[in-house]
Amino acid sequence: MTPPRHAIVAGAGIGGLTAALTMAQAGLRVTLLEQSPTIEEAGAGLQLSPNASGILARFGILERLVGLALAPERLRVRSNRSGADITRMPLGPVSELRWGAPTVVVHRADLQRALVDAALATDRIELRTGMSVAGFVNTPRGVSVAVKTGAETLSLDADVLIGADGLHSRIRQSLGLGLTDNPHYSGRTAWRALVDGRDAPDFALRLETSLWLGSRAHLVHYPLRQGALVNVVAITDDPWRGSDANFWSQTGDSLQVKRRFSGWHRDARELLASVREWRRWPLFDRDPVSRWTIGRAALLGDAAHPMLPFFAQGAAQAIEDAAALGAAFSADEDVVSALTLYEKSRVDRAARVQLASRRQGTLYHLPGPAALIRDLGMRSLNTENMMSRFDWLYRYSA
Ligand SMILES: Cc1cc2nc3c(=O)[nH]c(=O)nc-3n(C[C@H](O)[C@H](O)[C@H](O)COP(=O)(O)OP(=O)(O)OC[C@H]3O[C@@H](n4cnc5c(N)ncnc54)[C@H](O)[C@@H]3O)c2cc1C
Repeated sequence: MTPPRHAIVAGAGIGGLTAALTMAQAGLRVTLLEQSPTIEEAGAGLQLSPNASGILARFGILERLVGLALAPERLRVRSNRSGADITRMPLGPVSELRWGAPTVVVHRADLQRALVDAALATDRIELRTGMSVAGFVNTPRGVSVAVKTGAETLSLDADVLIGADGLHSRIRQSLGLGLTDNPHYSGRTAWRALVDGRDAPDFALRLETSLWLGSRAHLVHYPLRQGALVNVVAITDDPWRGSDANFWSQTGDSLQVKRRFSGWHRDARELLASVREWRRWPLFDRDPVSRWTIGRAALLGDAAHPMLPFFAQGAAQAIEDAAALGAAFSADEDVVSALTLYEKSRVDRAARVQLASRRQGTLYHLPGPAALIRDLGMRSLNTENMMSRFDWLYRYSA
């Protein structure tokens, strides 16, 4: 009997963990390498749209989140000054009926834990932490991966390498795209916080996702873990000029947020005032590329298509990638053809979402009369028109 094909996955974020599961289900043996000494249970909330939650349901992950994930009843879009609703879109059962799966919100740590538990439950996946992938070479019969662990560098052999190593992907560097492929600062910063449900104003505990639109800023919030927490993301235009390319997050300054949102409706100000600690995340993406594979190595998730969070799709697209990768390995025994199949099925879709996410940010931050026209347009949409605008994104089967 031939031994199962062996995959190395670099990075145990949501993308890498899901890919390990889908590839294991396709019959591969998977070594999942994570540079951090532990799988970080950090982070804030995540919205998981039906295109992603449907995949998580198929792989038994959604059921591990019962009692933790919530299904908001609606998306409510509010005006920053009056607080009035610009529009509402039903979610809950309507989402499931229209797009085939629920829209859910979940703490990132809960999703990560569910994925790790599922990975540990199969003997096809070996999870190794404190292992940083430093490079790789394609060999005539496979791929040889250089891995740093402490002061040591090991060489591990596999049939295929998946680079799920995030925005600053090492493996992406091997595509040879040079300086044209640097991460691009969007000119916007996300201020992220988790508020204790006991400190949050009542309106923020409602089972809904709220999106407030203002000039050059927007605000998103929703409850998590049955209302024990409220996830808050305040996004502002920000001429931040960082020099550290590896900059990821910093403790934010609450006075700065307070000042920036001072003219907003009292509900918004009350919620922002209940935050104890902000994390500041300058937002980066990259231009789409048409090639994600180099021989027996391929990129996945943020490593392949980092995007701005304005459609809440970064993790969702990584989950779609993982499903497509598993399907390609189920369909084709040959590693290189399976990776080609994977790339073909994903590149255009991810590029579309990357570019749409940029445009969505521009739309959300319009100032002055342009914002009034945008709001009038949104008000004029009936529920069907509103929901149909998301069909291309949410009704997608990877
Ligand atoms: C403000 C904000 C809000 C967001 N909200 C949403 C949302 O609501 N819904 C949604 O779908 N998405 C959202 N996203 C996007 C989402 O967080 C990311 O797109 C997603 O987490 C990417 O997952 P990933 O596994 O590809 O990469 P990452 O999460 O970056 O994981 C990469 C992993 O690889 C490891 N690693 C890196 N280098 C190496 C190496 N050399 N060797 C080994 N391991 C390595 C890292 O330690 C890390 O664990 C949001 C993003 C932001 C900034």
